[in-house]
Amino acid sequence: MNTAAARPPRPLISAVVPFLNEAATLPVLFAELEQQLGALGLPWELVLVDDGSRDESLEVVRSQLEQRPQLKATVLSLSRNFGKEAALTAGLQASRGDVVVPLDADLQDPPELIGAMLEQWRQGFDVVYAVRRRRAGESNTKRLTAFGFYRLMGRLSSTAIPADTGDFRLMDRCVVEALLQLPERSRFMKGLFAWVGFRQSAISYDRDARQGGKSNWNYWKLWNFALDGITSFSRVPLQVLSGSGVAIAFLALLYGGWMVLRTLVFGIDLPGYASLMTAVLFLGGVQLIGLGMLGEYLGRVFEEVKARPLYLVRERWEQ
Ligand code: UDP
Ligand code: MG
Repeated sequence: MNTAAARPPRPLISAVVPFLNEAATLPVLFAELEQQLGALGLPWELVLVDDGSRDESLEVVRSQLEQRPQLKATVLSLSRNFGKEAALTAGLQASRGDVVVPLDADLQDPPELIGAMLEQWRQGFDVVYAVRRRRAGESNTKRLTAFGFYRLMGRLSSTAIPADTGDFRLMDRCVVEALLQLPERSRFMKGLFAWVGFRQSAISYDRDARQGGKSNWNYWKLWNFALDGITSFSRVPLQVLSGSGVAIAFLALLYGGWMVLRTLVFGIDLPGYASLMTAVLFLGGVQLIGLGMLGEYLGRVFEEVKARPLYLVRERWEQ
């Protein structure tokens, strides 16, 4: 077991940064990491994963690294855009640090927190995650949907996933190794982070607005991301489905019985067109939703069964 006493006094810190089209923010990121991590006086390495950028991000990385020949760095350039979760996994796989910190390239995850995280790690926590107290520079809709999503996830998921927590955290090597053992293709990292367990602790911070560039997410991506999260960590939607099936069948039975009784007692009257139509359409809708829900799970099973690699690397170099 990893106890506080067993912590190496001078741990190697890996900063893992997946990026997609971040040419505008990368120079700031380099400067900031150099300053903040340099101030800790510990050895550190940078693991950069280019998630299929189509701008000059990779050239920017090259020139930033040339300006800092003493910096330890590993750069992976993926063969196309595989999504942040896959890129992050690639970065974790390439990292060698005793502690590993995934960071967003846009500096929305402030590296100045790493010092405080290390403190807690030294006290024996294996994971120190950052909880967002406030989000600057994000629209109310984004804030509201994020809020709703985290609460919904909390209710549905069998694993307790901390709310308002992104990928930004400090992890001990043992946690990274555990994460890399998880074979699934649909990698909802927030959920996987929670699933592996270990001794976790939280620190809170105010999330800043992005440093230049623009968010790579749109509502369609976010919707799929949310579905990934829910279907990977919860069977509740399927249970709701079978539950409502039983409830509706039961109600229909009661209603049928009552109609027989009514006909026997009061004689035959004209059946209602409106109620019939409503029932048919309503049930049709429920069935389609049900099929769709099954499809969401089945589609993910399909992805898993194909067992394709999570990402492909086009280019890799170290310095
Ligand atoms: N990112 C990535 N691949 C993607 C989308 C995003 O590597 O397909 C990176 C992006 O460059 C950034 C981080 O993931 O470093 C977070 O993305 P973004 O800032 O767009 O998300 P937000 O902060 O708006 O949630
Ligand atoms: Mg961001």
